[in-house]
Amino acid sequence: MKRNENSVTIPDDVDPGRWMDLARSASADDVRRALDCPMVGEADFAALLSPAAGGVLEELAQRARARTQAHFGRTIALYVPLYLSDYCSGGCTYCGFASDRGQARHRLEPDEILREFEAIAAMGFQEILLLTGERTPKADYPYVRDAVAEAARHFAAVTVEAFPMTTEEYRGLAAAGCVGVTLYQETYDPVPYERLHRWGPKRDYVQRLAAPARVLESGIRFAGLGALLGIADPIFDVLSLYRHALQLRRRFWQSGVSISFPRVCPQEGGYVPPHPVSDRFLAQIIFAFRIAMPDVPLSLSTREQAAFRDGMAGVGISKMSIASRTTVGGYQAHNASPDGQFHVSDDRDVASFCAALEAKGLEPVFKNWDKVFR
Ligand code: SF4
Repeated sequence: MKRNENSVTIPDDVDPGRWMDLARSASADDVRRALDCPMVGEADFAALLSPAAGGVLEELAQRARARTQAHFGRTIALYVPLYLSDYCSGGCTYCGFASDRGQARHRLEPDEILREFEAIAAMGFQEILLLTGERTPKADYPYVRDAVAEAARHFAAVTVEAFPMTTEEYRGLAAAGCVGVTLYQETYDPVPYERLHRWGPKRDYVQRLAAPARVLESGIRFAGLGALLGIADPIFDVLSLYRHALQLRRRFWQSGVSISFPRVCPQEGGYVPPHPVSDRFLAQIIFAFRIAMPDVPLSLSTREQAAFRDGMAGVGISKMSIASRTTVGGYQAHNASPDGQFHVSDDRDVASFCAALEAKGLEPVFKNWDKVFR
């Protein structure tokens, strides 16, 4: 281990070589041991990603479903994202908001934010995720903090997915009512990371990697982790994501992590993922995480098709967004901007999605957090 300038411990063995070998060539016996083990370790997790484990995917699914039900019952927590701004100083090759894209930029002003909140609350949501691009003068820390404070007056749970902040800034978000911060590392492999993040503060790999620890140091309850699957070797990224989550759970055992599984799709600018992840392998990844981390919320967004999301709900996945807009605003029609960060594949409305969950014997939950828990 080593410490960066913020005295945050980060893994110095980001390349988990022997787990990579195991994930590529585990035997059927290795997979059996992992499935029969009540406490899955790192080697077991790697085995669950292997082709041998892919050969018994239905067994993984059954194990994942049982562990999901043991910890989350038959519930699926629902949340909705609201993009506050698409101004961005970043040059991420795979993103529709990168600063070299030509579209007009938008930022919601306080009165527009309020109208969006009212429209979203009227849809029944009690948990909202507020998003921005990288830090810019148009969408800086005070802007995000003030939006959190207003959101906390309308929703039971407010979370943020924006730019890396200092521990002090995260403390300010917590005081304003933020209970969770999501910050994907995108890829844990420093080589493609540097190539894909062409300019802007996001080029600082270490600063970004250390941010979830600062989130939890600040007193915010949850740090959301993820890798953008498809932009680099998914085995490497999934193993590193697992180890990142493990390290945070050991260090901040009073807090929590949640994990998402964003899978990159072609974007404006012609980006084609060099390491496409199939539906079958994404399912295997989700099952492996659920078996290894039975009590961690696992989330799947509307990037994915309805049929895939329905298949994963309750079989590993315990939290989902629905009725999402990936444009700035959009819940109040006149606020919508035309260009989203990514394409929404599951465009069902709240009622249709809840009906689909209930048809599977699952219970959609709009509120599973309250200020009194803080
Ligand atoms: S991924 Fe984030 S930082 Fe990168 S261009 Fe998109 S909005 Fe900006």
